[in-house]
Amino acid sequence: MARPVVAIVGRPNVGKSTIFNRIIGDRLAIVEDKPGITRDRIYGVAEWNGKPFSIIDTGGIEIDGEDVILKSIRMQAELAIEEADVIVFMCDAKTGVTQADEEVAQILYRSGKPVVIAVNKVDNIERSDLIYEFYTFGFGDPIGVSGSHGTGVGDLLDAITDSLPELEDDEYDEDVIRVALIGRPNVGKSSLVNAILGEERVIVSDVAGTTRDAIDTPFERDGQRYVLIDTAGMRKRGKVYETTEKYSVMRAMRAIERADVVLIVINGEEGIIEQDKHIAGYAYEAGKASLFVVNKWDVVEKDDKTMRQFETKIRDHFLFMTYAPVVFLSAKTKQRLHKLLPVVQHVSQQHAMRVQTHLLNDVVSDAVAINPPPTDKGRRLRINYATQVAVKPPTMVVFVNDPELMHFSYERYLENKIRAAFNFEGTPIRIFTRHKS
Ligand code: GDP
Ligand code: GDP
Repeated sequence: MARPVVAIVGRPNVGKSTIFNRIIGDRLAIVEDKPGITRDRIYGVAEWNGKPFSIIDTGGIEIDGEDVILKSIRMQAELAIEEADVIVFMCDAKTGVTQADEEVAQILYRSGKPVVIAVNKVDNIERSDLIYEFYTFGFGDPIGVSGSHGTGVGDLLDAITDSLPELEDDEYDEDVIRVALIGRPNVGKSSLVNAILGEERVIVSDVAGTTRDAIDTPFERDGQRYVLIDTAGMRKRGKVYETTEKYSVMRAMRAIERADVVLIVINGEEGIIEQDKHIAGYAYEAGKASLFVVNKWDVVEKDDKTMRQFETKIRDHFLFMTYAPVVFLSAKTKQRLHKLLPVVQHVSQQHAMRVQTHLLNDVVSDAVAINPPPTDKGRRLRINYATQVAVKPPTMVVFVNDPELMHFSYERYLENKIRAAFNFEGTPIRIFTRHKS
């Protein structure tokens, strides 16, 4: 199920990052347990009232030139309108309504997207009267919050989740593999799309207007139906804004949410940089099947060890994604291109694979017999049974005497054993521990 995207916009210093951190705070700790996931957060996944959503703080987008602040908040707001399902318009009670707030509001009016207006820095009762001024924008009841104290954040989350749209999940038939290509500008995403579809195909025409029209490209190969997600966005991408990381991440978020399989495209000529990891981290967190595509392999000078060395580099950088296969190819010469779709099909099957409970339990029992869980303060974790409760990604629940006794390292050990038995190549797997004696 695609998660809706929530964007926080507003001028600098109103407290966007502070509120963003409050909202994703709890989740953060869990995610950062995984080695290699970056600490430099620009998006997060949250859940409130049983509704999951992704959230991005659009602040801090720097651009050069005059009127920098105005220009960048305008860009932020426009991006949020294109990419988000709900927009949180953040203002500041201490300063009251400013010219820059007016600018943002003007852009948001035109969007037709739901807007929740939050007024930050309402740190005490006396300040709660300051929110009334913000009715002037006409975005409904302003919600007073305090990033410093955490007050009002629950009300804000209520307002956000009330505004979330129901996202359609049945856009395509179940047997269609939805594929998203992500990666930095110039790694060769558009070229790869062209190469996959065949040169003569015109993929997209320009999309008019600021409102996003996602254009997907369906095709069929060897009896398997695929759809390339958001090929229009890919065309627009890479040109003006995309050098700013937050922009490219935000552009990629929706495509990733809608995909089954994410191709993380890397420029074989340049190698891997930090930014590649952010987007890959998102695909991991979103629970999507993934593979690495090392493009421009035609220009890489190689001998019989080059491929293995490059793969080792990928493994070192993407420790959280050891499950993802690597395909080396050239979109330009089409060298090795035929290797790609079979791998896409394979990881998609693995992503949707269901393991029978008795087989899973055999593996878990063997794992426990070989390496019993360590004791904690004299108490030992006892595993009663395990069962797979979901696919896409495969999700296991392990029932134990006390979930507190399940350590991250033991969970990882179980994951490794499960992978050794069933493979699950190209897909993350989730393991939850629940109490049942
Ligand atoms: P951003 O630029 O909109 O992301 O704003 P930040 O989150 O970086 O916050 C800007 C400044 O406002 C920082 O100095 C924060 O400590 C401060 N700040 C954030 N939230 C609150 C709040 O609720 N009350 C007060 N008094 N200050 C806050
Ligand atoms: P995007 O921004 O990721 O969509 O990248 P493009 O598809 O626009 O490609 C960026 C540049 O890399 C263009 O000049 C392409 O011709 C070039 N390019 C793409 N794929 C390859 C490849 O496999 N080999 C070589 N040598 N160049 C490539």
